[in-house]
Amino acid sequence: MYQGNWTCSGCGGAITELPFEPRRTDGLTCRACFMKKREEGSAAEGADPSAPKPRVEGAWSCSGCGAAITSLPFTPRDTSNIKCMDCFKKSRA
Ligand SMILES: [Zn+2]
Ligand SMILES: [Zn+2]
Repeated sequence: MYQGNWTCSGCGGAITELPFEPRRTDGLTCRACFMKKREEGSAAEGADPSAPKPRVEGAWSCSGCGAAITSLPFTPRDTSNIKCMDCFKKSRA
């Protein structure tokens, strides 16, 4: 264990011991917050809005304006009804 004087980024509590030597002192989480995060992460797998979204490359065209779409943030199930970002926003507005 590594001894130190860090602060938990989750609850703000003091961390005096870590099982590893932290390279960065910001973004550290205490055991309680780490466990909580992990539980939340496994419960909402793939739904973490802060996670980088993999983009799917392809050659589609927008069903709204006909513009070419070369990448999407998801794999389209129905390729006949894909909208570009503009049309997608308009359809929601
Ligand atoms: Zn904490
Ligand atoms: Zn469009």
